[in-house]
Amino acid sequence: MKPDTSEILISSDEIRDMVAKVADEINSDYGDRPLLVIPVLTGAFIFAADLVRLLKMPVEIDFMKVSSYVGQTSTGILKINKDIAVDVKGRDVLIVEDVIDTGRTLALLRDMLKERGAASVKICTAFDKPARRVIDIRPDYSGIEVGDVFIVGYGLDLDGRYRDYGDIRIVKDNEEQ
Ligand code: 5GP
Ligand code: MG
Repeated sequence: MKPDTSEILISSDEIRDMVAKVADEINSDYGDRPLLVIPVLTGAFIFAADLVRLLKMPVEIDFMKVSSYVGQTSTGILKINKDIAVDVKGRDVLIVEDVIDTGRTLALLRDMLKERGAASVKICTAFDKPARRVIDIRPDYSGIEVGDVFIVGYGLDLDGRYRDYGDIRIVKDNEEQ
């Protein structure tokens, strides 16, 4: 069945307000301290693009593409599909995510960046699904909480589609969710 994406959950106006709120929090926490922003590809590219333009400190941006799978250990294994080129040693790092679901990927990524010697690693997510959490990880900056629904738009995809929507939609009649 063709996915139905007609139901708008979060409007583009609400998203704009959310980005401004998150940027304000980051600006007041970091002041003039330079920030290394690491958006997680692919979903976070639109949120990160909107967010960094509202940040006031010196910002450097490099992208990572990661995924996780549950292996022999309970926490899972991080697969790095694309790594950053910059050295994180001694840097204040802000990971930018589209949505936190189980939290597995982000917990592994945060731990890896700390192991590489980052001075600090904080997490910023546009959307959060706390009810779905498997790993106890809390974002330092969180935009809008959503329930146990599969969302698309504003960078988030279903099989590579719908990332270009300016709002967040709920997918119905989707057998793959
Ligand atoms: P987790 O937190 O489970 O390790 O993984 C979160 C990742 O799964 C997100 O970065 C995102 O790519 C994907 N994901 C989780 N929930 C959704 C959702 O509702 N919609 C879409 N499009 N992707 C999701
Ligand atoms: Mg993601």
